[in-house]
Formats: sequence, structure tokens, C-alpha cells
Amino acid sequence: MFDKKYDVIVVGAGHAGCEAAHAAGAMGSSVLLVTLNMNTIAQMSCNPAMGGIAKGQIVREIDALGGMSGIVTDETMIQFKMLNKSKGPAMWSPRAQSDRMLFSASWREKLEQNENIDFWQEMVTDVIVNDGEIEGVKTQLGISLLAKTVVLTNGTFLNGKIHIGEKNFGGGRAAEGASEGLTASLEALGFESGRMKTGTPPRVDARSLDFSKMEEQKGDEHPTKFSYLDTKKLTKQRSCYLTYTNQEVHNELKTGFDRSPMFAGRIEGIGPRYCPSIEDKIERFSERDRHQVFVEPEGWNTVELYINGFSTSLPEEVQYKALRKIVGFENAKMFRPGYAIEYDYFPPTQLTDILETKLVKGLFFAGQINGTTGYEEAASQGLMAGINAHQQVHQKERFTLKRNEAYIGVLIDDLITKGTDEPYRMFTSRAEYRILLRQDNADSRLTHKGYELGLASEQRLQLVKEKEKNVEKIIKEVSKISIAPEEINSILSDRNDAVISQKQKANKLVLRPRISLIDLCVNDEMKKLLGHYNETEHEQAEILLKYSGYIQKEEDMANRLQKIDNVKIEQGFDYTRLKSLGTEAREKLFRIKPTTLGQASRISGIKPADVSAIMVYLDKVMA
Ligand code: FAD
Repeated sequence: MFDKKYDVIVVGAGHAGCEAAHAAGAMGSSVLLVTLNMNTIAQMSCNPAMGGIAKGQIVREIDALGGMSGIVTDETMIQFKMLNKSKGPAMWSPRAQSDRMLFSASWREKLEQNENIDFWQEMVTDVIVNDGEIEGVKTQLGISLLAKTVVLTNGTFLNGKIHIGEKNFGGGRAAEGASEGLTASLEALGFESGRMKTGTPPRVDARSLDFSKMEEQKGDEHPTKFSYLDTKKLTKQRSCYLTYTNQEVHNELKTGFDRSPMFAGRIEGIGPRYCPSIEDKIERFSERDRHQVFVEPEGWNTVELYINGFSTSLPEEVQYKALRKIVGFENAKMFRPGYAIEYDYFPPTQLTDILETKLVKGLFFAGQINGTTGYEEAASQGLMAGINAHQQVHQKERFTLKRNEAYIGVLIDDLITKGTDEPYRMFTSRAEYRILLRQDNADSRLTHKGYELGLASEQRLQLVKEKEKNVEKIIKEVSKISIAPEEINSILSDRNDAVISQKQKANKLVLRPRISLIDLCVNDEMKKLLGHYNETEHEQAEILLKYSGYIQKEEDMANRLQKIDNVKIEQGFDYTRLKSLGTEAREKLFRIKPTTLGQASRISGIKPADVSAIMVYLDKVMA
């Protein structure tokens, strides 16, 4: 192991590292996964949940490409919900609560089943670089581990510092040490680093709570799942519970504000704006007399609960006293306090579109190290870095995804083009082509790409092809079936929809917002047609029928904008040749080094006039 030159070394076995190692290994690279602690592989550092708005779409994209996060979630989930079902399909987002321990065990099993992956438990302290190219990493024991490419996925560990009230100490996550040395090693090579922070709530003993005083939050009655493969569906689920803070809780928390590391300025890193601590919420929304608190189980067989909405770094005794003032928490016992953590990250504008660093060839960064937050964001970057490390080693084409092809494309383009100075999480609003990037069609968008890469299996590809063929058949056939007034009018009136006076084609009736394809199963022809196909196929056909106008519009817009994304800008392009560019624009273009005109146009501070100037110049050069 110590003499071998691996194709890929992955540093860190969090969500990014696991996907990176799996992808490179599954595609045939020899991989060494080096991590601080083999017992915390794929640890869910914060809430035991995958997916959610926009994040659920990312998990489905990972799955469609042949990644493992969706499968692992399906195998370990204890509750499933499709969020936003009352809105349009662009907003539907799958979310699952997982059993934290099983999630980690399942990921470890998947990695161990991959014979191309070796493991080494230790801290990486340095990267070995020769003449601008990566050669491997050095560990705390002084071992040099060699590889053609290295993917760093250090998460929240780089010079991590944990804060609870006035106490602080080094740590990468609760009960785990910080990673030291690596930031300095990278800075010495010329990398720029920054500091961010995040926080987590206390965990509580379920045996000490009174759930009868809270609102039960059940999973979906007919839960679906993440993977497009034949993973098994949930047959039983665990409930979550909803309760609220109140004025007494707030007053108790306020007694600790003078010792808050955040308010006292002891935390310098910037935290996630949309995931504020409870003390932050009390300060920022002082007009609100209560905030939601979701009580979420950490697994099937544990009494440990995650207190969602109550992230805090106030002194532990303040946390404890305040918790006990929440309805249902009067006798609460705490397992562990909430805390905040500060860590180093590397501004992602230092990366190319394959997540390779611009400074060192063969060195890739993925996950929280790039300033993102969230398991899904991390996992998808890991997948892309792992794929591209493999491609590079085997002299194959770079693999990128466009903004109109995947949320993963949006994520990476945003990171490398705009950078981020606060923890970046995905939202549907970040994507301009939301109706194209739905959770239901990630397989159609991406599986053929995963298959061509050698990552998605033949079985996956066949499943997509079968689904597409069947959906096409449904769409074609419903346009031939007529429905009579006496067959459908009672349903239409029930839904407060206008009744019909003469026969109408099913493909027209389904355009009504309150009418689904299944509602139209009112005659033998429709029953026979839909009876041939499964629920997923019905749903996909219905979406395509109902939203075909919007889908076409977004496709047209994407094609138009694609034109400037196809205009390549050569590396090393000399922007001083363009006299009309302002100093700020020139400085940003030199720093970010966009590879296409489209990417240049998305850099903040680059004006349409700057884009035109580059375009005119490139036109002249090419003419
Ligand atoms: P991580 O999951 O952090 O994994 C990093 C891996 O690298 C670990 O296996 C570690 O052992 C290993 N490692 C680190 N340094 C070295 C080294 N030098 N040598 C070898 N191995 C190393 N996300 C949200 O979306 N919402 C939240 O509210 C939220 N709150 C959080 C609160 C806390 C306290 C923490 C710690 C994280 C929180 N997160 C939250 C973030 C979420 O945990 C991360 O986004 C996600 O885990 C990042 O995945 P990753 O793979 O990049 O890194």
C-alpha cells in the first residue's frame, strides 16, 4: 500500500468522500480512501435526513448517474415525505429521515464491497506537489501516500473549532478532533482560504418527553423513495413531532446571550443565513413569540432525538433550562448539547468546472471544503470529482453538467463562477430551468450519461428506456381516448371544475389543474390503458402532458442561451487586449478564468457590455 501509486486518493469519508471513492472505484480506478476515523464513515454530522427542497432533486440526480446516496438513503430511511406536492412538479422534493447509524454502516458496506478501494485511517497533513502536479499526500505519521490524483473532502474539520458558550476547543465535529496542517500546506502553495461556521441543536432523550402535548408528523401514506433502481419501499415509518418555543423559552435563552460566542464576536466565520440558531432567530425576529421545533428520531431503535429548529451554541446549562420550558419538554434529559463549529474553507473560484484546482493539476476539492453546506451538495460534488479524477487518470474526457441539465450543474457553475462568502446551499430559485430539472426525470436527464461513463449499470439504462417508452405510449394513447360527460362530470363537480357537455379527449381534460390522469380512469379504455403501466409512469406522463408548454418554453430558452455557453474562451486568454473592459471586470476575468462566454456572463460584476466586447473580439479572431 505504501509503495503503490494509486489512481485516486480520496481524503475524508464524509458524504463527498464516499461518493468520490465509490465513483472512481466503480469506474475502475485504484482508490485509497484516507479518513480520520473508519467508524464515522458517512456520518450525518447534523440532522439525520436526506433530501428536501432542491436537495431531494440532487439526490435523485446522484442516483441517476450511478452514485450511492439515494440507495443508501432508501435502505436506511425511517420516514419519507414528498414535499411541496400541492405545488407544481418543479417544486416536488423528496425528503427522508434516515437511521443515522444504519446510514453510516450501509455506506461503509458499499465501499467495502468495492474491491478497487483500499482504506487507511489517519490524518492527512500535507499534499505532495511536484512541478504544479499532485503526487500524493503526507500523513500525521509521516507516511507518504502516492497517487496520480487527490480529492480533498475535509468537510468541517480543517482547523475546526467548537464553541459552546464561553468554552471552545479544537474539533472537526462533536467528539472528533480537528484536522491540522493541511490548510497551511495548501496556503503555502498559494491557495486562498476563508473561515465559515455552522451549528447544530442539542440531542434529547425520547423517554423524557411528553409526546401527547405535541403534534404528530407522519410520513407519506404511500411513501415513494429516492433510487430509480428497485430498492425496497418503506412499509413502516417513525413519526416526527412538532412543538413550539414560547416567550419563557426565549427569556431563558436570553440569560445566556452575554456568553454567546456569536454575539460576543468570538466566532469570526460566516454562518448559513437560512439555517439560523435559535438565539439568532430570537434576535432577528423579535416580533415572533414562538418558533417551530421539530422533534426527529435518530433511528429505528434509539431514543435519541434531533431537535430541529433549536440549533444553538449558548452555554449548556442555558440550553438545558430553555429546552425544559418547551411544551412537552418539561422533564427533558439532554444527551449532548448543541454547538457551533468554525472551520476553514477554500473559495471555490479557485476550481475549474471539474472541481480540479487551477493551481495544482490532479488536485480536486469537493464538499464543505468548497464553502457549501449540506450532505447532498457535498455528495454531488464528491461524485463529480471522483468521476473526473478517474477520467483524468485514464486520459478520458472531462465530465461536466450544464445548468439546464442538472442541479449539480447549477451548483458547480455557481461555485466556480460566483464563489460564495457564506455557506452555500441549493435552492430551487438558484436554477433558471426548474421545470426541466425535476426530481421525477433525473433518470431521463442523466442515466445515459452515467452509463456512457461506465458508472450507471446496464440495468439502470434499461429501466429508463422502458419507462420512457411506456410514458410515450401513455401520452400517445390518451390523445385517442374520449371521455363522455356522464363518465366524468360528477368528478369535475366534486373538484369545483366546469362540467363538460360533450365528449372530450383525455389529453385535454388532464390539462385541468385539479384533474389527474388517474381521475380519468372512468371508462374501460382508460382503465385498460393505465392498468398496463405503473404509478411512476402515470405520474411522468401526466407531468409531460400538463406542463408541455412550460417545458417547451424552458427548452427553447436554454437552447438560445446555450449558444453563448458553446463559445469557448481559451485558457490564458489575455483580457488586457480588450481596452473597453473596466478594471474590476478584467481582474475578475483573470482570476476566475471562465472557459466559456456563458460562464463569463454569469460572473458577478461582469456587465452585458463586457460580454459583448469579448464576443466581438472572439468573433474577429475566429473570422
Ligand atoms: P464531512 O461530512 O464533514 O466529512 C469530512 C470527512 O473528512 C470526515 O470523514 C473526516 O473524518 C475526514 N477528514 C477531515 N480532515 C481529514 C484529514 N486531514 N485526513 C483524513 N480525513 C479527514 N448541513 C446542513 O445542510 N444543514 C445544517 O444545519 C448543518 N449543520 C451542521 C452542523 C454541524 C455542527 C456540522 C459539523 C455540520 C453541519 N452541516 C449542516 C453540514 C454537513 O454536515 C456537511 O455539509 C456535510 O457533512 C459535508 O460533507 P463533506 O463530505 O464535505 O464533509
